[in-house]
Amino acid sequence: MEYWNEEQTLLAKTVSDFATKELGPMAEVLDDTESFNLNAFKAMAPLGLLGVLAAEEYGGAALGCTEATLVMEKLSEQCASTTLSYLAHTILCVNNITENASDEQKRKYLPDLIAGKTIGGMGMTEPGAGSDMLGMQTKAVRKGTKFVLNGTKTYITNGPIGDVFVVYARTGNEKKEISTFIIEKDFPGFKTGKKLKKMGMRASPTGELVFDNCEVPEQNLVGKLNDSVSHMMRNLNIERITISGISLGLASATLKYAKQYVQERRQFDKPLSEFQATQQKIAEMATDLEAGRALTYSAAKAYDRGDRDMSLGAKAKLFTAQMATRAGLDGIQLLGGYGYTREYPVERYMRDAKLMEIGAGTNEIMRLIIARQELEL
Ligand SMILES: Cc1cc2nc3c(=O)[nH]c(=O)nc-3n(C[C@H](O)[C@H](O)[C@H](O)COP(=O)(O)OP(=O)(O)OC[C@H]3O[C@@H](n4cnc5c(N)ncnc54)[C@H](O)[C@@H]3O)c2cc1C
Repeated sequence: MEYWNEEQTLLAKTVSDFATKELGPMAEVLDDTESFNLNAFKAMAPLGLLGVLAAEEYGGAALGCTEATLVMEKLSEQCASTTLSYLAHTILCVNNITENASDEQKRKYLPDLIAGKTIGGMGMTEPGAGSDMLGMQTKAVRKGTKFVLNGTKTYITNGPIGDVFVVYARTGNEKKEISTFIIEKDFPGFKTGKKLKKMGMRASPTGELVFDNCEVPEQNLVGKLNDSVSHMMRNLNIERITISGISLGLASATLKYAKQYVQERRQFDKPLSEFQATQQKIAEMATDLEAGRALTYSAAKAYDRGDRDMSLGAKAKLFTAQMATRAGLDGIQLLGGYGYTREYPVERYMRDAKLMEIGAGTNEIMRLIIARQELEL
């Protein structure tokens, strides 16, 4: 089925060609060595990918959520973990600044981020506050013309390699009194903590951000004081739609690999594809992927029309995340012992897919959002 118009299809082809050349050949070794593909990241700038949603006056491509999602899908068909870092940069940092910051802040930070001269990330999660993000404890206190931040953020994508972070901190005593700050890695009192070793998404560096009396100029407060819950929600909404593109890319890569394998591998004098049990799995994977695409691009198009219903992104993310993990597990099963080895990419697809059920809000939190909408709670 077609979900994209002619221009979007052309963009998908351009991104796919780029990813096949720049990401695919490196994916296995970068997973093994847990290293970031900096060259490929920088090479995305001339294609306009690093500011896919940002305005042209800052160097952006001024495209929509549909385009951002299809870019995620096509990149992650080749390397999901580079795509996760790309998402943290483009959606969590660049788009957050685009949507919420002042013109002066945009002029200061966006051109370098979009040109790939600096790498961005976003810090919301803390050791004691994940799903319950309003329980965050990082505090910012005004002192003269500065804010002083204390606390620790964890699981931050691009934490170990980032230059600029959009960070949320508590600025009042009420639960919702949270503000957004732009933090540069050289601000006094800021340092990155330990890099985390992960099951999957290993080419995407994840780590802690530590604020020890970190001094932030008041010009780096984004929007109004105590008014950032709306920033968080807006950004989470588009994050959940676009991250669904990563699940689609992973499931699509798994299906492609599995189809080829079952036609080549022979047992009992026949290709595996002639066994009905194999055909059933391929049929389920293909149907799941089609349903995931329909749901995701319908949520993306609704977003582009101005519909900000959070349950649409939650549904797309919940369905596609589970679908990608299922595809990964079925893919391994179809390859048998070979699927379980690291000589074949399918186990990597499965390890990468599992993150989709946790990051940007867990499956359980997606169900809460959907149920609240359905039951009008
Ligand atoms: C690789 C990776 C990259 C990440 N990148 C970023 C990033 O760039 N920036 C950032 O800020 N964060 C990031 N995160 C954090 C991510 O968003 C959180 O891990 C996620 O929101 C879950 O929080 P938690 O890990 O603290 O789990 P918890 O909230 O402790 O949840 C543990 C379990 O309890 C369940 N649970 C919790 N509350 C409820 C409830 N009310 N009802 C039912 N079940 C519940 C959860 O669903 C889960 O199964 C990243 C995480 C990972 C693993």
